[in-house]
Amino acid sequence: MRVLLVSTPVGPLGSGLGGGVELTLTNIAKALVLRGHAVGIIAPKGSQFPINNGIEVDGALQITAQVQGRGAPITLPANSVLENMWTCTRDLQQNFDVIINFAYDWLPFYLTPWFHRPIAHLVSMGSLTDAMDEIIGKTVQNFPGTVGVHSLAQAATFEFGDRCRCLSNGLDLSGYTFQPQADRALAWVGRIAPEKGIEDAIAAAAQTQISLRIFGIQPDLAYWQRVCQQYPQAPIDYRGFLPTHQLQQELGQCAALVMTPRWVEAFGNVAMEALACGVPVVAYRRGGPAEIVQDGVTGWLVEPDSVAGLVAAIARLDELDRHTCRQQAEASYSLEAMGGRVEQWLKDILTNREAGMEAISKPDS
Ligand code: UDP
Repeated sequence: MRVLLVSTPVGPLGSGLGGGVELTLTNIAKALVLRGHAVGIIAPKGSQFPINNGIEVDGALQITAQVQGRGAPITLPANSVLENMWTCTRDLQQNFDVIINFAYDWLPFYLTPWFHRPIAHLVSMGSLTDAMDEIIGKTVQNFPGTVGVHSLAQAATFEFGDRCRCLSNGLDLSGYTFQPQADRALAWVGRIAPEKGIEDAIAAAAQTQISLRIFGIQPDLAYWQRVCQQYPQAPIDYRGFLPTHQLQQELGQCAALVMTPRWVEAFGNVAMEALACGVPVVAYRRGGPAEIVQDGVTGWLVEPDSVAGLVAAIARLDELDRHTCRQQAEASYSLEAMGGRVEQWLKDILTNREAGMEAISKPDS
């Protein structure tokens, strides 16, 4: 297949602004190339492309969907990079068999009927606004099988969740080194934004007095400063936003990854990355992480929003085996495993489309 990947408009690939979508797109590109498919990528200007065939598109970045309320209208800035990327997609579509949309944005869903090529939409977050639910729902209705999600918990946030294709996720295991030994330190990894609830991990660090190494961009500096002021005694160590090869090296040295999302995390790439390094995951029993972590085997699942629960779980890290963590990543989240799931999804979309076209051309048969 010839597959065109269209990235998120909230930031260039490699910037961190796009959150987990950046890594997901990178890994899907690699996985499809590995399986012999021809892949192109369209992404905002300044992107670091994982393969040669990348096209950079200029324009104003989109505001992230997490920070808006349920009733938020659909907005586009002037000279929108989202608009410009989809103009580029329209112009290039005849060179591809299928397009994958990675943007959690209204426009690509709305444009779907006007494209000659089928569009597969990989939805990266749970339900956030009524306007997005409406357009994704229409796409599910009119183009069955084309909407993919990462976890059942994410799907369940949508009314039409049972008609979404669950693809889980995957990564390039060769880029993650298993580390059998850990320092006496915990890790927290992700965008430092309110929906990620870092304050609970910091509160747990303050109580246990185990150092918390923090990795990620700070899109909301005021929020970060508030949290730091709240816990002046917490042993925290902010290490910045690191590229994957450095992140996995540092993450691998930690005794556990702590995940404290307030929202239904669609998947939680960082959980899969930690396991790949042999690092167990302590996470709230909510959203994607609750489907990734094997409670008592590759981590501990904790009552949501309970700092006491985090502290109790951190005290029981010795019971978990780091080899088993790596084995889970190898069994479930390899590039090969994910590539197989994505390839089958795209093949099904193409087969359904051909069947639909045949039915239209032979209406009475
Ligand atoms: N990340 C990174 N460097 C860092 C911290 C985070 O590359 O220093 C990446 C991490 O690899 C992951 C993403 O940021 O892919 C966070 O994705 P996740 O799915 O956990 O959450 P999201 O941001 O999509 O809500």
